[in-house]
Amino acid sequence: MTVTPREKVKVGIIGAGPGGLAAAINFLRIPFVDLSVFDQATELREVGAGISINENTWRHLRLLGAADKIEQYTKRGDSSKIDGEHRNGLTGELLSRRFQSADPNAPPRSRIERYKLQRALLSQIPEDLIQLSKKVTRIQDTTQGVTVTFTDGSTAGPFDLVIGADGIRSVVRQHAFPDHRLSYTGKVAYRVIIPAEKVAHVKNIPSGSTFWHTTKTHVYTDPLDNGLFEIATRAIESEEHGNKVSWGQKVPKSQVVHHYDGYCETIRQIIAAPDEWLEFAMFGGPRLESVIHNDRIALLGDASHPLSGAFGSGAAFAFEDALILARAIEYTYARNQTIGEALKLYDEIRSPHYKGLYSVLNGHADTAREVAAISPALSENELIAESLSRNFKSSNDWIYKYDVTKVWDERIKEEETKHNLAGMSSESSGKKEPATATVPHVAVSA
Ligand SMILES: Cc1cc2nc3c(=O)[nH]c(=O)nc-3n(C[C@H](O)[C@H](O)[C@H](O)COP(=O)(O)OP(=O)(O)OC[C@H]3O[C@@H](n4cnc5c(N)ncnc54)[C@H](O)[C@@H]3O)c2cc1C
Repeated sequence: MTVTPREKVKVGIIGAGPGGLAAAINFLRIPFVDLSVFDQATELREVGAGISINENTWRHLRLLGAADKIEQYTKRGDSSKIDGEHRNGLTGELLSRRFQSADPNAPPRSRIERYKLQRALLSQIPEDLIQLSKKVTRIQDTTQGVTVTFTDGSTAGPFDLVIGADGIRSVVRQHAFPDHRLSYTGKVAYRVIIPAEKVAHVKNIPSGSTFWHTTKTHVYTDPLDNGLFEIATRAIESEEHGNKVSWGQKVPKSQVVHHYDGYCETIRQIIAAPDEWLEFAMFGGPRLESVIHNDRIALLGDASHPLSGAFGSGAAFAFEDALILARAIEYTYARNQTIGEALKLYDEIRSPHYKGLYSVLNGHADTAREVAAISPALSENELIAESLSRNFKSSNDWIYKYDVTKVWDERIKEEETKHNLAGMSSESSGKKEPATATVPHVAVSA
C-alpha cells in the first residue's frame, strides 16, 4: 500500500493567553500541523491577579506537561483544614464551609498568581514560536484560506484553520459573529495581591478562601501560601467605567474603599490595607450557539464564551476547548475528512457544556429575582442567606470534576459505531462508499 503524502495543515492561533498557549501545546504535538501563534502584547505577562487551579485545571496542566512547573503541585490536601467559606459580608456570619480534598495522588485546589500559570504553559513551547506585537485588526476568508492583517500592516496566512483565542474582546469573534454584542455588566472587579503582613493586624481573617456576600456585591479574600494575600471584589460602577474598558488599570485606594463602608469590620480593615488597586470592568455577552465559522475558524476560551470570570475556572474551560479542538483535527485528518467536519465535532462536544454553565448563571439570576420578590420582604441579612442556600441546593461540582477526555472517548465510540453501521449497510446494499464526501483537510497532493 502506498501512502499519499499530504500537505501540512496551516494553523494560526490568535492570542497567547492560557487558552492560546494550551492550544499551541496541543497542536505542537500534531506532526502534520504547521503552527503560527500571534499576540498583540509586546511581552507576555499576566496582570497582577490570582487564579484558582481547581481539580480539572490540575488535570489539564498534567496533560499539558506543565503541572510540575507550579510549586503547589507537590502539595497534598488535609481534610481537617478549611479550604473555603461563604460569609455574610455585613455581619461576618459563617454561611457555609468546605474542607480541603485530601487526595493522596493530587494537589488540592490552589490559588496562585496568574503569571505562574502563564509561565508554566510557556515552559512547554519553543521560545521563538510566539510572534509578539502582532495585533490582529482584520480577518479575510478567501478560497485559499484565512488571512490575518496586523496593525503594522503585515499579513499572515492563508491558514487552513484560524483559532480565535484572543480573549473576551475577540476580534476573531467580531469577524465570525458580527451581530454578537458584549455589554458592560454595570460592575467592575477591583483586585490586588499584597504582602500578607499588610493585613496581619486584622482580626478574624479566615484561613481559607472566603466570599463575603451582600445582595449586590461581594468581596473575595484568600491568604495565598507564599506570604501574599489576595483581595478581589465586585463593585457597582457607572457606565463611564464600562466605556473606559478598563482592564488591569491602576486606581487609587479612594476609588475603592467607599464601596465597602457597609461591610463588617474585618472587611473594612482588609479593604483599607492596599494603597492602590487594579480595576477590571466586567463585560458579558449572550452564549453563542456555535463557535465555528466557515469551516475554517474556531473560537476558544474567553473568545468563545465571555463568562466574565464566573465559576473561577475560565482557564480550565479554555484548556478543555484546546484539547478537544486538537483531537478533532487529528481524528478527522486520519479519516481524510474535512476541517469543517473537525470543527463540527468540536462544536458538538463543547457547546452543550457551555450551555450547562450558562444555565447555572441564569439560575443564579432567577434566584436573585425570586428572593427579592418574597413577601413580606426579607431583611438584607435574610436575603443573603436565602440566596446562598438556594444557589447551593444543586452542587456545581460537575463543573470542577468534568473530565473532557472521557467525554471525547465516549463521543468517538459513538462515531465509530455510526461509521461501522454505515459501512455494513453500504456493503449489504452493494454501494461503494466514496473515499471522502467533501473537500479533505487540505488539498491532497503528491
Ligand atoms: C475578573 C476575572 C477573574 C477571573 N478569575 C479566574 C480564576 O480565578 N480562575 C480561572 O481559571 N479563570 C479566571 N478568569 C478567567 C481567565 O482569566 C480566562 O478565562 C483565562 O485566562 C482564559 O482566557 P483566554 O486565554 O481565553 O483569554 P485571555 O487570557 O484574555 O488571553 C487572550 C490573549 O489574546 C491576546 N489578544 C487579544 N486581542 C488580540 C488581537 N486583536 N490580536 C492579537 N492578540 C490579541 C491578548 O493579549 C491575550 O494574551 C477570570 C477572568 C476575569 C475577567
